[in-house]
Amino acid sequence: MKLYKTKTIREISGQHEFRHSRSLGQNFLTDKNIRDRIIEASDISSEDLVIEIGPGMGVLTQEAAERAGKVVAIEIDRSLIPVLEHTLSEYSNIEIINEDVLRCSFRNIIERERPSGKVRIIGNLPYYITTPIIMKILKEDVPADSITVMMQDEVAQRIEAAPGSRTYGALSLAVQYSCRVTHIISVPREAFVPKPKVDSAVLRLDIKERKSVDVKDERMFFACIRAGFGQRRKTLLNSLSGIGMFDREIIRKVLTEAGIDPVRRAETLTMEEFASIADKLSEEQKNI
Ligand code: SAM
Repeated sequence: MKLYKTKTIREISGQHEFRHSRSLGQNFLTDKNIRDRIIEASDISSEDLVIEIGPGMGVLTQEAAERAGKVVAIEIDRSLIPVLEHTLSEYSNIEIINEDVLRCSFRNIIERERPSGKVRIIGNLPYYITTPIIMKILKEDVPADSITVMMQDEVAQRIEAAPGSRTYGALSLAVQYSCRVTHIISVPREAFVPKPKVDSAVLRLDIKERKSVDVKDERMFFACIRAGFGQRRKTLLNSLSGIGMFDREIIRKVLTEAGIDPVRRAETLTMEEFASIADKLSEEQKNI
């Protein structure tokens, strides 16, 4: 079944009286080349477990099932379950879970399936919750190997951004701390039906065995990042006061010791510089 064809999507919608929901971010992929690029970039082999977020009508699910040991697809929309049972009926290695991905335990799925190969997370993400989905996977330390997902281009740019760029911020650092980020392909809005208002991009995130920097206290590291970007126009001397437990003189001392000019702004700092500030503040915290 050619699920990337607009005509097929219309026919299936008619047969199942399915009405797409804008609020669930239902923009179905209608470009075979892009489907193929996502699947190739996911690097799926026959021992692998694939967890798919938001299968929709199953356009990616079909191709993943051709390559994987097993595919577990999580779809919130109950009205898509009979559609998926129809479109994926010839595959015996697919399980559909009708659940909200934000409430679902990836870890339980992986522990239950015990794949002998890798764990690949894939999906054309519902745009209204792109960041919460990615942050959930990273915060819960899900034992997955890679995450290959389509998202709105603006979020992809924030994830990929380097220091000094306009889009660099807390999300760039949070993802790059745990993952190696690869840009797979940019996708125009015309590749979906219905057509969304924004363009998209596919990123592959490879979860690192060791974080990108060693920090003494992760909470302090992320508190510095949050405070720095919470007031990104302010100098570090002012924005880091937002952490709340250190007075200005301690912040000035720590920045000077770290060799960082206190009038710089968070958007110019590398991850290593944030780590160095956080480690020094962790030491200072012991004296409070
Ligand atoms: N994979 C299909 C494709 O590429 O054509 C559909 C992608 S569509 C952008 C996003 C899918 O995620 C929809 O099927 C939508 O119903 C589903 N979805 C939305 N919110 C969800 C949630 N919280 N949990 C699980 N699935 C969700």
